[in-house]
Amino acid sequence: MIQDEFTNLNVSRQRKYQLRHQRDQSCIICGNLELATATHCERHARAQSVRNARNRNATIRKYSSRWGNPGEQFDELIKTSKVDN
Ligand SMILES: [Zn+2]
Repeated sequence: MIQDEFTNLNVSRQRKYQLRHQRDQSCIICGNLELATATHCERHARAQSVRNARNRNATIRKYSSRWGNPGEQFDELIKTSKVDN
């Protein structure tokens, strides 16, 4: 069992995983060290962006000023990103 500052926090196992990755400055989902935002690598930042747009019922733009050209993975990303409702 990992002993660190998060061990005794009353939060879920998954949340501890996220917090450890955040502390180590790696993507909180996959652990990638090349971050595109404060907490996510480019792939997961894009996925998060799509999820946020869906939850707000906003337009999902393939090309954005923030992300530029999404590359070929984007269509698959839109299909596979989870929608809660
Ligand atoms: Zn990632």
